[in-house]
Amino acid sequence: MRKNIVAGNWKMNTTVPEGVQLAKEVCEAVSAAEGLKCDVVIGVPFTHLTAVKEVIDINKVGLAAQNCADHTSGAYTGEVSAAMVASTGANYVILGHSERRGYYNESYEMLKTKVDLALENGLKVIFCCGESLEERENGSFKDVIGAEIRDSLFHLTAEQMACIVIAYEPIWAIGTGKTATSDQAQEIHAFIRGLLAEQYGAQVADDTTILYGGSCKPSNAPELFAKPDIDGGLIGGASLKAGDFMGIVTAF
Ligand code: PEP
Repeated sequence: MRKNIVAGNWKMNTTVPEGVQLAKEVCEAVSAAEGLKCDVVIGVPFTHLTAVKEVIDINKVGLAAQNCADHTSGAYTGEVSAAMVASTGANYVILGHSERRGYYNESYEMLKTKVDLALENGLKVIFCCGESLEERENGSFKDVIGAEIRDSLFHLTAEQMACIVIAYEPIWAIGTGKTATSDQAQEIHAFIRGLLAEQYGAQVADDTTILYGGSCKPSNAPELFAKPDIDGGLIGGASLKAGDFMGIVTAF
């Protein structure tokens, strides 16, 4: 049975003290909430991981980095390896976000390596995919999403897929206030689950958590999460205020 997950992606926001405060607020709210129907994860900047780990209960709130290097160690100035992320006590890493694909030229091949290194180091991966507005409008969006998933994930074994969460994030909906309709999102989530079923069989497809991301907020989360193949959200802007984030966490 797959899990519902609501994961925050703080991106490049908050100083360490601000991040620690936000993490505390989220953890306190999660601890106080009764009967939550989802797991909660926060995706924080690298600089915050150790300090945030100190103030949360990792059994209540998962901790994610937003990236890791595509090398194990050595002369890669400024990079942070999957082993370093794991050594902070983080248990997740977000990989393949469209901002990293777009601004830092992360290729399918590079992401495949990052996925492998994350899994080797015991991290669960929130793997992002999604099409641009142009790809949505010219009708190539399913090809694009299919290639992103196939080329970076389908070398994994069925056992390894148990550590992968997929996040469908249409680029045109990220930070734009323009949410995919729940029907548009459901269509793609079902398509992704179909790809997983073809490659790995129905059990793996059924067990894989698929999140929606893109201007998800407390007001639209209930309708999105009511769809059968939408198992939660990857939340950017609305994860920066504990109240808004909890409004989404409690939407199930
Ligand atoms: C994101 O970048 O992962 C995201 C979903 O952002 P937002 O919620 O701000 O659209």
